[in-house]
Amino acid sequence: MIRNEYARIIDELFPDANDPAVVDAPEEALVRLLESDDPDENALLFGRAAAVRDAHCGSRMVVRGLVEFSSYCRNTCFYCGLNRANRAAERYRLSADEILESARLVDGAGIRTIVLQSGEDGYDASELARAIRGIREHYDMAITLSVGERSREDYALWREAGADRFLLRVEAVDADLYRSLHEGRELSTRLECLETLRELGYQVGSGVMVGPPGQTTSHLARDIRFLASREFDMIGVGPFIPHPDTPFGGAKPGDVGLTLRVVALLRLVTRNAWLPATTALGSMDRDYRVDALKAGANVLMPNFSPVEVKKKYEIYPGKRCVTERTGACAGCTEGIARAAGLAIDWSRADSLKMERRLPAT
Ligand code: SF4
Repeated sequence: MIRNEYARIIDELFPDANDPAVVDAPEEALVRLLESDDPDENALLFGRAAAVRDAHCGSRMVVRGLVEFSSYCRNTCFYCGLNRANRAAERYRLSADEILESARLVDGAGIRTIVLQSGEDGYDASELARAIRGIREHYDMAITLSVGERSREDYALWREAGADRFLLRVEAVDADLYRSLHEGRELSTRLECLETLRELGYQVGSGVMVGPPGQTTSHLARDIRFLASREFDMIGVGPFIPHPDTPFGGAKPGDVGLTLRVVALLRLVTRNAWLPATTALGSMDRDYRVDALKAGANVLMPNFSPVEVKKKYEIYPGKRCVTERTGACAGCTEGIARAAGLAIDWSRADSLKMERRLPAT
């Protein structure tokens, strides 16, 4: 039986699926919605989020092809298997030509967005620009970068070369929590990078992790408020999964139900952001990506990294699909969309928030 208070909060905060974004949802109300694992209450929350997704984005799942082009990293994030202190990690770095070969596979699958992701490698900026230009020249697809904190010059070079979008997750917007997850790094630097990316005209994505040590539901409520207020074009959310070769190796994993509630609330507050059903959600005790889509998510990112390197990009253990033949995901992708009751959209699917940001003419 749904308790009236829970339904009342949802009705008051999100009365109509067609309403615009809600950037000022009170923290206490979000905490209340996050903390309930009552199945009836969660069903109400997820159903409302799916209705908002359908009203603002269409009843569809868009597809992005992910290419992880370097597993080198200069950072020591305590939760991540790629951190530079992990001597057990196997490292690889693809050349611009190898990235282009992966783009060919993404194109062959009919996908019109490629996501180029790496650790904070310090990868040669001009080599990445060469890969971006090559993709631009040969294929009709949007290019998303996810390579971490770099100089304004590098971001500008890649934008000029033809990159359209940039993903830079903050993971946590509380400065102390951020520091406790990222040795020697500051949230303010991350936020400056996000500002710079926006100024350079990228479609910008961010996101957070659910359940790392020290995080509370109040932290998550503030994360949700932050992500809504910045009008990010894409927002990725995944559960913390402990990697044995990291300082957080013995910690408890993030809670799946809580992660799904964060996804649903992000849908309710942002309305039309692209929200992926993340690979991390597909890599728990079972695959929860369909559950995420039923809770308001609307993006899937099959992996197109060369099969011989897929397993080496191990941010967390047990990652889904690392043994699949590269590009063998089309059938699986269709099955996931069908199970979630969504149509597949293979188009480049640019930001749905862009129009509002363009100056009036
Ligand atoms: S989370 Fe990113 S920046 Fe941090 S160690 Fe892992 S790959 Fe490097």
